[in-house]
Order: sequence, then C-alpha cells, then structure tokens
Amino acid sequence: MPAQLIDGKALAANVREEVAAELEELGPVGLTTVLVGDDPASDVYIRGKHKAATGVGINANDIRLPAEISEEELLQLLADLNADDGVDGVLVQLPLPSHIDEAKAIEAIDPVKDVDGFHPLNAGRLYLGRPSLVPATPLGIMRMLAEYRIETQGARAVVVGRSNIVGKPIAHLLLQGHATVTICHSRTVDLQRHTLDADILVAAVGHLHVIGAEMVKAGAAVIDVGMNRTDEGLFGDVDPGAAERAAYITPVPGGVGPMTIAMLLKNTLTAARARRGLVSGVS
Ligand code: NAP
Repeated sequence: MPAQLIDGKALAANVREEVAAELEELGPVGLTTVLVGDDPASDVYIRGKHKAATGVGINANDIRLPAEISEEELLQLLADLNADDGVDGVLVQLPLPSHIDEAKAIEAIDPVKDVDGFHPLNAGRLYLGRPSLVPATPLGIMRMLAEYRIETQGARAVVVGRSNIVGKPIAHLLLQGHATVTICHSRTVDLQRHTLDADILVAAVGHLHVIGAEMVKAGAAVIDVGMNRTDEGLFGDVDPGAAERAAYITPVPGGVGPMTIAMLLKNTLTAARARRGLVSGVS
C-alpha cells in the first residue's frame, strides 16, 4: 500500500487559523523582516512570509536594503529594531552578502525577538531542553509528526543533514521526544545502513533524490525537507519511489515548506507573548 501523504498545506492552514484566533486575544503584534540585496530566491521567501503574516493579521514590515550596505549599518538597524516596542519579531533573511558576518548579524538580534531561533542563546536553550524560540522548519516537522500520531518515543530517528537551521535542531527535538537519534552527513560511511534502520527518516540535504527508495525502511515515516529546483519543477531529497515502502511521507512541494512559514507565524506570537510576560523561559 503506498504511503499516506502528510498534507503540509492543510496543516499549515490550520496553524494560520490558530494564530489568527490567538492574535485576537493578544492585540497588535509586529514582525519585521530584513532583506539585504536582491537575491531572487530570498525575495520569493520574504514575499511568502509577508503574505502569510499579513493574512493572519500580523503587522508585517518588509525592510529592503541595498547589497552594498555596511555591516555596521545593518547592526545599527537591528539595534533600532530591538529597541522598537512595536516590533515583536525580527528576521534577517539569509544568506547575507559575503562582506557581512552572518553570525554577528544573528547575534545582534534580541533573543526574545529572534523568531528564526538562530541566536546562540536560543540554540543553547534548545540543546539544554529548555523553552526557547525554535527554528520554524524543525518545529513544523514535530507538529506534522504529532498531527499524524507518529510516535517519536522509542522510535529510531535518522536525520540526514547537520545544518544549524534544520539538521541539528530537529535532532534535538526528536531527542526531546525520546527518539533514539542518529545524525548523518556528507562524511557518513554507508548512509543506507543508517537510513534503513529509521522508523522516522528526516532528509535535509539539498541534493535531488539523494535518498533512494531502497534506502527507506518498510513502514517508515519520511520527512523530506529538501527543496531542489530543476527545469521540471521543485523536487525533494527523497526519490518518489520511497512512497511505495514508507507508511507516511511528506510531498514536495506541499509538505515541509508551507509548515515552515506557518510556524514562523507561531514563533512571532511566542515572541510577542514572551515580551508581554505571558510565557516564561523565553527572554
Ligand atoms: P545545508 O546547510 O547545505 O546542509 C546540508 C547538509 O547535508 C550538510 O550537513 C551536509 O553535510 C549534508 N550532506 C550533503 N551531501 C550529503 C550526502 N551526499 N549524504 C549525506 N549528507 C549530505 O542545507 P540546509 O539549510 O539544512 O537545507 C537542506 C535542504 O532543505 C535544502 O534543499 C534547503 O533548501 C531545504 N530547506 C527547506 C526548508 C523548507 O521550508 N522546506 C527550510 C530549510 C531548508 P556536511 O555538514 O558534512 O557538509
């Protein structure tokens, strides 16, 4: 029997409804995004985030800066946004031009406004299992697993990819969910030996169909984070043939992508609540 598709689009619509309802209780919430330069892919991502944010009623402000802006000017802008009481969430779209130190820019964002969850304080809190702002993609994956009642406790989870944005944080969240977690990467020897063991397989590599159907355990839940643009369209990291072996699989497009944007909105609300003293631990 082919795998059940995990419908990220439908789940994302539910999350947006939740956010809209919560906003009514909370009052005005502000999200400011900063895009440096005119990278077309970044422009698409930023427009998607704004459409979603304004759609639920978040006050979204889209700051565009020329690619030549100095690091100092960017850091000053971030300091101004930190001090602005109307701004609950700040997001700097990555990648930044090479003359700007990305780590410095991320660290310049007030951790309580860090809706991407990339600040070292938030990353450290996640590592310690304490409340924090968690990157949106892994947060969305955990929500998908929960919605489809895919048990993490005791499961063998294999994460392929170890980026700070996806691989490492999802590994930590799965560990918090009491899975037994293996992290694979480009130097892993015999990747298939690991992936074949996975009850939950998360592919976050960015290489078209790097996970072949034969690498997936029968009955596994497969989360395909990969976004590989080709002339034929957008494809994931997992060969579509894997749907014949898996029990659950996320489609690309329509899986992890829409959930990532929806969870960014959730994070904006979490930041707003934390700033109003309504949640503890996130500061
Ligand atoms: P990244 O920073 O480039 O990390 C890729 C990871 O894959 C690295 O850890 C790398 O290992 C590993 N890797 C590379 N080749 C490999 C191979 N042959 N076998 C096993 N591991 C290999 O990428 P990322 O930011 O995590 O993104 C990964 C993918 O997810 C991209 O396609 C990206 O566009 C997509 N993405 C989608 C969303 C969404 O919302 N849908 C969000 C974020 C990212 P090393 O560490 O050894 O180099």
